[in-house]
Amino acid sequence: MSRKQSENPQNYPLSEAEKQRRVKNLIALGYIERASDLPDGAIPADTTIPAKAYYSLPVPFYAQEMYRCRECGQEVIWTALEKYRYYEVEKGNMYAKRVHCDSCYHKST
Ligand SMILES: [Zn+2]
Repeated sequence: MSRKQSENPQNYPLSEAEKQRRVKNLIALGYIERASDLPDGAIPADTTIPAKAYYSLPVPFYAQEMYRCRECGQEVIWTALEKYRYYEVEKGNMYAKRVHCDSCYHKST
């Protein structure tokens, strides 16, 4: 089973009401001008949590991103859902970015 099945919209982690609340906050704080500024499949970040801890929000929303593994050079997709889980569920550092693919990451730790 492919991990990328997590991109299924049915796995979207926010309720519609919560999503709307977050989008409104992002607009009010000036991160985006309108809801359609969010890329397809992006998950708006909860501005109320990091606002206390950070001067500005480094990640106003979680959008799918491609990066190249620093170790093996493989192109990897970091999905919106994986970012959401990393930043909000696992409370990862908002300034951290992934530099390794899954298998290199597990090799190095
Ligand atoms: Zn790698």
